[in-house]
Amino acid sequence: MAFKSLNPHNPSEVIGEFEEAGPYDVEIAVVRAGEAFFEWREQPASVRGGALANIADDVEKWAEELVRFTVMEVGKPIGEARAEVKQAVAILRYYAQMVLAPEGETYPASRSKDWLITRRHPLGVCALITPWNFPVVIPVWKFAPALGYGNAVVSKPAPASTVIAGTLAPIVARHLPEGVLQVVPGGAETGELLVEHPDVAAVSFTGSMRVGRTVARQAVSRGAKVQCEMGGQNPSVVLADADLDRAAKTIAYAAMGYAGQKRSATSQVIAEDIVYEELRDRLVAAVEKLEVVDPGEENCQVGPMIEEDSRSSTLETLARSGGRIITGGEPLDRDGFYLEPTLVELEDPKNPLTQEEILAPVAALLKAGSAEEAVQIANSVRQRHVAAVFTNDLDRAMEFARRLEAGLVRVNAATVGVDYHVPFEGFKDSGIGPEVQGLAARDVYTETRVISISP
Ligand code: NAD
Repeated sequence: MAFKSLNPHNPSEVIGEFEEAGPYDVEIAVVRAGEAFFEWREQPASVRGGALANIADDVEKWAEELVRFTVMEVGKPIGEARAEVKQAVAILRYYAQMVLAPEGETYPASRSKDWLITRRHPLGVCALITPWNFPVVIPVWKFAPALGYGNAVVSKPAPASTVIAGTLAPIVARHLPEGVLQVVPGGAETGELLVEHPDVAAVSFTGSMRVGRTVARQAVSRGAKVQCEMGGQNPSVVLADADLDRAAKTIAYAAMGYAGQKRSATSQVIAEDIVYEELRDRLVAAVEKLEVVDPGEENCQVGPMIEEDSRSSTLETLARSGGRIITGGEPLDRDGFYLEPTLVELEDPKNPLTQEEILAPVAALLKAGSAEEAVQIANSVRQRHVAAVFTNDLDRAMEFARRLEAGLVRVNAATVGVDYHVPFEGFKDSGIGPEVQGLAARDVYTETRVISISP
């Protein structure tokens, strides 16, 4: 089946047309990767790390090309697109070194002359299934450790970012033995073929919760290793003693930047009632100042949404919520899938708008009678990556850092952004399997074997 990738800023512009990989293509990709794996895993770690370092140099060399397609194909503001490619380079350099870290341990054996050793081994062929919204860095944060630890990879990008995937793949593949990296274009059906393939040893997925749970079920049912990072519903709590101006400006961008299409975007703002109105007014002012323009313009902060379906389903969810829209709420009167950055006041913290991920420039405002109530509201959500708290009181900051249920808690800072060298995973319903990022990625892409030697 054929599919097209469009420019969300100018949907009449078709960026690329592709044929979806079917059963035969997936079979060939897995077989080739499987054959290449036997050679690749025998390479010393220094050689594999060296390849990652060379890939990093090449990605840096082609950065402007990758940035250009990221702006064009997924509508990412150009400043953020540059930051994404820069982070991808940093991740490659990080794993180029990390593969040289100790790969096993020695334990006391039951007989004093024996050796009891553990050693990490690559898994085989890893399927990497990725979303459209971080089309460079997410594939990189998966394949850098996967390849670095000696696996072969079959990568399936999201259909909406296939051009970027096709630009990145040759930059990477030329530093690897033939076959070690395979890319299969396509959507759900291609993804399913990979997940169900008996020769795929592990599946690493990033995307929505609905799909992630299906992928996890299918992979587990045939005994494959699986790790899923999924969507988030992230709160920013503003306490009465916070610097309200700073909180409002920080939250406005955390909620609306890149049209809110990040798993870590702030989607609900919970303010203590004494400062609620003042915060609300400042937040409205900060949101209305955001630059909603062509993502290719240097000053762009909020670009278009990825597709018309996402925009119309966001408008339906907003209407269903029954909340009071205090700014935004309308499509922009121009080409492209633009939606005005939207703030909506809600009374019920259980409103569906606060419970489900909404990948759009939309945030809900809620009032909390006390700091305690703010924690309860924030923790009532099941999909969770990041939570932020705004306060000038160190004791309260520490208390919230302890009690907010999230993989990452930020104090006086935006929910968005991830440090690639720190273990991180979707929290509660947002993650399945081991943590990723940093050294934790080793647990995803290797297995530990025990060796017992009796001399
Ligand atoms: P999606 O779940 O629709 O698709 C993700 C990937 O899975 C795509 O490559 C898609 O083609 C593939 N896929 C779809 N159905 C499949 C199936 N049945 N079997 C196998 N593969 C299948 O997500 P999306 O719209 O591409 O991306 C947005 C989502 O990704 C949001 O929910 C966002 O929060 C999430 N996301 C999470 C993180 C994170 O690190 N946790 C990062 C970025 C994006």
